[in-house]
Amino acid sequence: MILPVTIYGHPVLRKLASDITPDYPNLKQLIENMYETMYQSEGVGLAAPQINLSIRLFIVDATPYADEVPEMKDFKHVFINANIIERKGNEELFNEGCLSIPGIRENVKRPTIIKMKYLDENFQPHEKIFDGIAARIIQHEYDHLDGILFVDRLPALRKKLLKSKLRALEHNKYDVKYKTILNKA
Ligand code: ZN
Repeated sequence: MILPVTIYGHPVLRKLASDITPDYPNLKQLIENMYETMYQSEGVGLAAPQINLSIRLFIVDATPYADEVPEMKDFKHVFINANIIERKGNEELFNEGCLSIPGIRENVKRPTIIKMKYLDENFQPHEKIFDGIAARIIQHEYDHLDGILFVDRLPALRKKLLKSKLRALEHNKYDVKYKTILNKA
């Protein structure tokens, strides 16, 4: 089932999301729906707040890009209750977009290497180092769980220049092909 996506201005995107337990209702179905929603909107990652759930769950699948970026060959994962325990490496710029911020793409500076503890869809614990595009996608999705959006990480001047575009999103003025949840005026 394809789920509607929350757009900039929706309060759930600013909330600190909560950990979940293995008895979380219909988790398997929820994850399936999130994948379906992400594929339909051509995203490489989707965090639960983007489908109006304030829980610490996000999914990634960058395998469609393996032709261009071979390291993405196996990069399809579910991350539950994730915790980034270390960020290192140089900070690099990379052009990011977000299904919840349609029509805006910006270069965002982030560290290139992260170490993360997380549970997979079977609640098995992992501790793993990610770098390159994987680290980039994970940090973007992880931020959603803390109520942070990529536009928050831009220099002050860029943010200022985007103000009117962001205000338009808050007021439901955008054009996308996927289903969205309208913001309250
Ligand atoms: Zn996003």
